Amino acid sequence: MIDLRSDTVTKPSIEMRKAMAEAIVGDDIFGEDPTVIILQEKVASLLGKEAGLFVPSGVMSNQIAIKVSTSPGDEIICEEESHIFNYETSAPAVLSAVQIKTIRGNFGIMKLEQIKDAIRPNVYYMPKSSLICLENTHNRGGGSIYPIEEIARISNFANKNKINFHLDGARLWNASIATNISLAEYAKYFDSVSVCFSKGLGAPIGSMILGKKDFIDKAKKWRKVFGGGMRQVGILAAASLYAVENNFEKLSDDHEKAKIFAKIISNSKKIKIQNEKVETNIILIDITETGKSVEENISILKSSGVLLSVGTKKTMRAVFHLDVNEDETKTAAEIIERIYK
Ligand SMILES: *Cc1c(COP(=O)(O)O)cnc(C)c1O
Repeated sequence: MIDLRSDTVTKPSIEMRKAMAEAIVGDDIFGEDPTVIILQEKVASLLGKEAGLFVPSGVMSNQIAIKVSTSPGDEIICEEESHIFNYETSAPAVLSAVQIKTIRGNFGIMKLEQIKDAIRPNVYYMPKSSLICLENTHNRGGGSIYPIEEIARISNFANKNKINFHLDGARLWNASIATNISLAEYAKYFDSVSVCFSKGLGAPIGSMILGKKDFIDKAKKWRKVFGGGMRQVGILAAASLYAVENNFEKLSDDHEKAKIFAKIISNSKKIKIQNEKVETNIILIDITETGKSVEENISILKSSGVLLSVGTKKTMRAVFHLDVNEDETKTAAEIIERIYK
């Protein structure tokens, strides 16, 4: 079975497991885990942020950012296809008592003008627009990359209007590798940034929320409230550290595999690649012409040895990662090409 459902299916390698086994650990609730401290300092320095906080999941890092940046009754702005709006089980409503105003972007990319239109006037009977969230790369946008110029414009607007600005950078690593724009250059525009080690970097667990020191002090409190305070978690931090040091540069291979795959399946008449640009490691395959549902198509491919996942209503998603090589990529693409010729 060639598993292209997600880059989260990657399993820790032997070398990563060795790094985990050898990690020096301590009680992180007491701030005494040296491996966690090293990871937090390293990633904060990579992103040019004052501090970082290791958390169990990307959902938790996004939700901590929302909690710290808003008050109950506020409104936050997210793109309609964003992870925060679609895949975090209404957590902003549950944990922060805020509502989400969505904007439809182009492959997940919102323009400043759209965001300006969505900002509420400052009157007491309307919700306060207190946070703007972007996602880079954008998952349901097909791994699309946010243009840095647009990020800069939105950041400038948010600053002037005292609106907090958060980046869901679960795959910021991919954006940076694809564009050669440093993580710090991307991150400098945001008050808070969330990154995941458990996607293309190949760690089994782990994300980080980053920002100014006083932001992270508050984040630490909410991590505890949300049940994310951990003890000898250096075992996991060691996997993330290994992932950042060894697998970050390798993401370009995943982008390359996605392009090879796209080229082969573009010969198929019954399907169409929605994000033809193939900017990073995600491909959305439009199945409208097959006359079958996304789920039916996925099950046909599964019986031929290729696992894809649901992208959007009309698309299947293929994601390239460490644990699928170029040969498997070609094989999977040829199977798909044959089925939909
Ligand atoms: C995976 C992902 C997250 C985090 O999700 P978890 O289920 O906590 O791993 C957040 N944002 C985006 C865009 C993601 O792809």
